[in-house]
Amino acid sequence: MTTSEPHRPPAPVIGRRTFLAGVVATALAAGCSNGDGDDPEPTGGSGDGAVPETAADLPPVPTDLPADVFALGVASGDPLPDSVILWTRLVNDPLADGGGLPEQPLPVRWEVAADERFDDVVASGDAVAEPALAHAVHVDASGLEADTWYWYRFSVGESTSAVGRTRTAPEAGGQVERLRFAFASCQNFQHGYWPAHAQIAADDIDLVLFLGDYIYESAPDPDAVRTHQAGAPVDLAGYRRRYGEYKADAALQAAHARAPWVCTWDDHEVENNYADDVPDGDAVSREAFAERRAAAYQAYYEHMPLRVEQPDGADLTLYRAVDWGDLARFYVLDGRQYRSDQACDVPLDVGVSCAEVADDDRTMLGDEQEAWLADELDGSDATWNVVAQQTIVSKITLPLGSNEGLNLDQWDGYPAARARLVERLREVDNPVVITGDIHASGVGVITDDPADASTPAAVPELVGTSISSRFPPDLVALVERAAAASPTIRYAEPHKRGYVLCEVTSDALEASFRYASTVATADAEVTTGARWVIRAGDPEPRAL
Ligand code: FE
Ligand code: CA
Repeated sequence: MTTSEPHRPPAPVIGRRTFLAGVVATALAAGCSNGDGDDPEPTGGSGDGAVPETAADLPPVPTDLPADVFALGVASGDPLPDSVILWTRLVNDPLADGGGLPEQPLPVRWEVAADERFDDVVASGDAVAEPALAHAVHVDASGLEADTWYWYRFSVGESTSAVGRTRTAPEAGGQVERLRFAFASCQNFQHGYWPAHAQIAADDIDLVLFLGDYIYESAPDPDAVRTHQAGAPVDLAGYRRRYGEYKADAALQAAHARAPWVCTWDDHEVENNYADDVPDGDAVSREAFAERRAAAYQAYYEHMPLRVEQPDGADLTLYRAVDWGDLARFYVLDGRQYRSDQACDVPLDVGVSCAEVADDDRTMLGDEQEAWLADELDGSDATWNVVAQQTIVSKITLPLGSNEGLNLDQWDGYPAARARLVERLREVDNPVVITGDIHASGVGVITDDPADASTPAAVPELVGTSISSRFPPDLVALVERAAAASPTIRYAEPHKRGYVLCEVTSDALEASFRYASTVATADAEVTTGARWVIRAGDPEPRAL
């Protein structure tokens, strides 16, 4: 594994099966444009899948194709200095079988321009959207200039998508003055609208990190703010419908169309609190759960602008690094696919005296991912080293009567793994952990010995709230007591929905907690409710 470049999985072997699976979109023309205006033939882009050699290899546009095939919008993600992944999935009706499209390969044209009106197209090509991948395409648009904004769009026949804006990362190792990134998680559709996404689209943001719970697998609730129309997903068709329903949201589409995203998942993309191959309850066998996980992982791949290899059955390698010149390296982790099962299987994951927690063999990331992370950290010269992951790392003591409780789904249930993580993070400059999952905002510190309040901060942690998922009202009082009782917690706010906007320079990482006034309406106002700063060289976060 290289330590100087983002994690890029090897390109899959191109074969008939791969072609039929329609892995990824591709360019017709070989070679890459340098983007200068003199180039008469805009080209560029490559795929890591099948490459049609000539236009004759492209399938025809069916005469009965619906007029609108871009009902889920466009997205981009995982930028490198010279390329970015462009995504769309052709859908007419998100709830209809096959998205309401004929079950046949469809030709998709893509274009990248230096301007919003597409007067200066710098890269373009053709892709094949295959029904086996729900007509999703992932274009690796390459040959682009570093640190540059672009606009992109797709077309099929006479139908053209909305225009998306995206950008490349700065030159590897190059000096970067400033980065503005947002991080967000947990968008339960039934708990409310997404004014936070409308605001992300309005803010001038370079990069959005999404830390999981992009969908919820829950059944329709007729009393919800807005009710899931499709039933609880358990198979591929079900998960596709669920993503279709979420991605039809205008605010979410706007946020995706405004900046590149870097995404990882948490549990609800499959099932609440699953761990590796272990389902939440005892209702299904591990074999049946493996099938469900495979369906969920494939649907996730199909709907996200990911620079990763297509899933292989119930496995999808999602962890990777994203570099932002010399300023920041993001370590995007997967804390679900490889973890040990939650210890002791206690209700609400709140353990009081579970000896299994202390087992040194318990893992959150799995051996391979831990080794990869160690390599990436070893090779980092970045000023800021940002670990983007799912569950809270800082120790949180839950006062339960006379007992001390722990949330065993979080890193509190994996203390040996947390100690290994902290040891490695201490070796790099300015480590910061950013976290989702809990539906409450927080600022914490991860210490060498969380049991000892006098241990100084080793790594600061910023916990984003949820885009719309509610914090359980009956646990609000508990979280307030827990924050007061935990020497590691500096700030906690369970009432507000929103996201965190981070402004990064070589001197400081400033975090603005952005809150919607309500999620009962789509157009609620979003304002900054709290600001914290982490200064370079000082792991103790300070309120502003
Ligand atoms: Fe959540
Ligand atoms: Ca979660």
